[in-house]
Amino acid sequence: MEPVNEIAREDLQRLDRDDPLAGFRAAFALPPGVIYLDGNSLGAMPWAAGQLARQVVEKEWAKGLVTSWNEAGWFGLPVRLGGKIAGLIGAEPDEVIVTDSTGIDLYKALAVALQHRPERRVIVMEGSNFPTDNYVVQGLVGQLGDGYEIRFAEAAELGAAIDRDVAAVCLTHVHYKSGRILDMAAITKAAHEYGAMAVWDLCHSAGAMPVDLNACHADFAVGCTYKYLNGGPGSPGFIFVAGRHLDKYQQPLTGWWGHAEPFAFERDYRPAPGIRQLLSGTQPVLSLAVAEAGIDIMCRADMRAVRQKSMHMTDLLIELVENRCVGFGLELASPRDAASRGSQVSFHHESGLPVMQALISRGVIGDYRAPGNMRFGVTPLYLRYTDIWDAVEILWNVLETGVWREPEFSSRGPVT
Ligand SMILES: *Cc1c(COP(=O)(O)O)cnc(C)c1O
Repeated sequence: MEPVNEIAREDLQRLDRDDPLAGFRAAFALPPGVIYLDGNSLGAMPWAAGQLARQVVEKEWAKGLVTSWNEAGWFGLPVRLGGKIAGLIGAEPDEVIVTDSTGIDLYKALAVALQHRPERRVIVMEGSNFPTDNYVVQGLVGQLGDGYEIRFAEAAELGAAIDRDVAAVCLTHVHYKSGRILDMAAITKAAHEYGAMAVWDLCHSAGAMPVDLNACHADFAVGCTYKYLNGGPGSPGFIFVAGRHLDKYQQPLTGWWGHAEPFAFERDYRPAPGIRQLLSGTQPVLSLAVAEAGIDIMCRADMRAVRQKSMHMTDLLIELVENRCVGFGLELASPRDAASRGSQVSFHHESGLPVMQALISRGVIGDYRAPGNMRFGVTPLYLRYTDIWDAVEILWNVLETGVWREPEFSSRGPVT
């Protein structure tokens, strides 16, 4: 017998009709028949991104050639996009720049943070963080030598891990797997009380919820543009340096784009003033230019409304799954309290990969994070409440029919 569903689809249709963000959906290209619950891995394509791509390739590149560095504003893209993202993360426009990948940006930001505390050797990180952050910092620590070490601590142990040996805490605001939010204001304050710098990774919070770096007195931050900012596959990351820390120490990848006068072609490095020093070399203009489409859309949205809808939708997803899919071995792997949860929900299932792959074959795209985590991203600008309902119906069907046991769903591609 089918379990009783207490939420009616009609109620959700009403919510969709009254949704103040409903108009944003038309700005995105979404394939028919697909419910996209993976905007926390790769955001959907804004129609404007396609137009920008054509403009940059066919006009600015094909016709403008090298003159487009000036005429089309290519050279200024990192600073211009940084200024726009600043408004989404509680920063000043001259504190943010878009460049390189998040991992490289983390390397640069942390390397500067450590120079602020030259007598200290410990970096506090969460071991369960998205691995690239750990890998990058392990690389930096190995290179620095001289007693530098990472002190791994999980969320509940952070308080005890921060002491006067700590040069920097380097944490991700919203956990990539569980969606758990760390209290940025409180942890930054605790770090500062012990004289440590606070470096934040905003990959799962920029564009997903209001972030106020300066109100939290954060020192440095990095993040992605290809997740909730819908910048496109592999679009560059961003770096925030609090204004009070600009022009004090140099980031280590001192290339010509971060030089005070790149076109003076001097023999020796002289740092550019301000946030431009965080640049290294020639930037991926196509990726940067296209990313502006998604960033512009996000800048038009009311981030508080985005957060409201996101909390409502993740609550709804949990409630529907727990009512509808009871008895199939799914276990919530995200905080139950919406205020502690980012814009995603994970469920653990011992056969999470084949269940997710069967679900994807039926048009509901989430992703899988080993071991056993089925991850569903909620992106309020292009999802409807009824999409959540429909996705859970399809999940129920996949579990009820056992179709996920078919061998085709057990093979694993290089990306999950
Ligand atoms: C997505 C993500 C990254 C991605 O880093 P890249 O350098 O862009 O590959 C880094 N850290 C976290 C926490 C992420 O979620």
